[in-house]
Amino acid sequence: MRAGSQDDADVIVVGAGPAGSSTAHWCATAGLSVLVLEKSAFPRDKICGDGLTPRAVAELARMGVDLDPADGWIRNEGLRVFAGRRSWELPWPEVTAFPGYGSAMARTKLDHRLVQHAQRSGAKLLERTKVTGPLLDERTGRTVGVTAQTADKRDVVYRAPVVVAADGVSSRFATALGITRRDDRPMGTAYRTYFRSEGTPRHEDAWMESHLELWSGRPGKSDLLPGYGWIFALGDGTVNVGLGSVSSTPAKQSAVGHDYRDLLVRWTRNTPQEWGFTPENQLGPVRGAALPMGFNRSPMYRDGTILVGDAAGMISPFNGEGIAYALQAGRVAADAIAQARTRTSDAAREAVLGGYAERMRADLGGYYTLGRAFVRLIEHPAIMRFGTRYALPVPVVMQFVVKLLSDCYEPRGGDWVDRLISTLTRVVPTA
Ligand SMILES: Cc1cc2nc3c(=O)[nH]c(=O)nc-3n(C[C@H](O)[C@H](O)[C@H](O)COP(=O)(O)OP(=O)(O)OC[C@H]3O[C@@H](n4cnc5c(N)ncnc54)[C@H](O)[C@@H]3O)c2cc1C
Repeated sequence: MRAGSQDDADVIVVGAGPAGSSTAHWCATAGLSVLVLEKSAFPRDKICGDGLTPRAVAELARMGVDLDPADGWIRNEGLRVFAGRRSWELPWPEVTAFPGYGSAMARTKLDHRLVQHAQRSGAKLLERTKVTGPLLDERTGRTVGVTAQTADKRDVVYRAPVVVAADGVSSRFATALGITRRDDRPMGTAYRTYFRSEGTPRHEDAWMESHLELWSGRPGKSDLLPGYGWIFALGDGTVNVGLGSVSSTPAKQSAVGHDYRDLLVRWTRNTPQEWGFTPENQLGPVRGAALPMGFNRSPMYRDGTILVGDAAGMISPFNGEGIAYALQAGRVAADAIAQARTRTSDAAREAVLGGYAERMRADLGGYYTLGRAFVRLIEHPAIMRFGTRYALPVPVVMQFVVKLLSDCYEPRGGDWVDRLISTLTRVVPTA
């Protein structure tokens, strides 16, 4: 596991999104030499809602990222939820495990800051370097590096005893190793755009706003979609506005057949005039992407390759949040890699690296199992309608929902809502 004389680094990280930068930061902090290969150049865009729950903020704080509001880290107090004609403001839970605030930052900035943070910790970044596939040991079949193409189209090889696939939802790297997407896990689709917001009531909104009643509005139909629309103030004079929906399997999601782009355009055009969601204020096109959920790619470790973030389908089926889990996966993966180096036999090293997957499953598997059940329920418009109209307004349900959907509950102890959620996550299977 220790880099040999032929190796370029102790660890190669493919992709510099939140998962890759977190892996790189934590590996470098543990004293490993880290090579991060990123196909684009920073600052680069990533289609996202840009929302950061307290869980994500906690991971950023753990990494030592300076979260000073003066430095562009807007703080939000919780969720403003709209259902039908009613709305509620639900503060982030007061728990010891997480801060009482969330944040939001455009991914062009966030990802740039995170990769710079990893560089300051000691990781080496090569931009405009596209990984084209794994490099396998001919005898053992184990991953021993990557093949890549440089900005000037040269084919190169980089070697390391461990490679971390942090290359996002499509994860060509994992696919090339035969680690393909599972067809029994939820899949989401979401679209977003930006609006200039200075001088509008949306500017610096202290609440992350969700609109739970998303009607498809297809001619002759008025079905309620299992998803939500969002408006997240970014504190830099812009807001991120988007919508997404989820299905219990990728096949169902592809069969949905909604024109989400059109739905988003129609939704924004029908918002109050003073919000300023006009074509003149729109910054950039409406863009969308898939959200792989509930560990939709496995195994998360095999023969020298670790999958983190969207590459392993780590987005929460409850709310479409993926950044917090990508950051967490990087931290846990780095710990496994650093610990594996201390083992003296190949078998012991493999067991420690495989322990990464066990730790991720132990921590999130039960929660994601509940999330899959949640998606199967809200796929039925009647249940979605009942939930938003009649169940949500009940204060105790609301308290439960905000903790469950944001994954911000006290993992040990806490009030009865915390205890109920942590018991539920423990009694269901983690597969
Ligand atoms: C519309 C939408 C809204 C969302 N809203 C939110 C939200 O509000 N909050 C939230 O927490 N999550 C949200 N998510 C989910 C979130 O965007 C992802 O979970 C998160 O980006 C995962 O991070 P990652 O590092 O695993 O992957 P990515 O962020 O996709 O990073 C992968 C990186 O790998 C690079 N790469 C890919 N292939 C190669 C290659 N061959 N060689 C080298 N580099 C490569 C890419 O260029 C990229 O930099 C949303 C997703 C969508 C689609």
